[in-house]
Amino acid sequence: MDSVKLPLCPSGQPKIGDTVVFGVVGGTVEAASITYLKESQPVTEEILALSGPVKPTEIFRIASSCQANACQHFDGANCRLAMRIVEQLPTVVETLPACQIRSSCRWWQQEGKAACYRCPQIVTNNSYSSQILHEVASDRSFPKVRKQTSKQIR
Ligand code: SF4
Repeated sequence: MDSVKLPLCPSGQPKIGDTVVFGVVGGTVEAASITYLKESQPVTEEILALSGPVKPTEIFRIASSCQANACQHFDGANCRLAMRIVEQLPTVVETLPACQIRSSCRWWQQEGKAACYRCPQIVTNNSYSSQILHEVASDRSFPKVRKQTSKQIR
């Protein structure tokens, strides 16, 4: 039987071989803004080394296979992190970012444009996250069931 291909988590952790870098963190400390790469790059030791003393996830957006039930944010059907982002964060762009992983992105598949309009402010490991980003990264304050809908954003 063929294995089912899981969508990509757009706030994944680096793992050599099956992950890609698709964005670079820019903007300011207070207001990060992702620059989406024209071509996603496979994660290599050389790319990881570019982050120097900080974690690669502080300066790169990395896509890796959604871990589904192995992830703290998955409720068995949906990524609750994507739900919180859409429901609690403001939009930061008005057009879809030129993102190379869209067709495989879990957040896009689940939330559509609403996720993309908020995505550029997300830094996977952000030591300087605002209170609202901190709360969105944590699921303590979010209802378990939608509408009846480390600060580590992963
Ligand atoms: S939410 Fe949209 S912009 Fe962000 S990674 Fe997914 S497809 Fe790309």
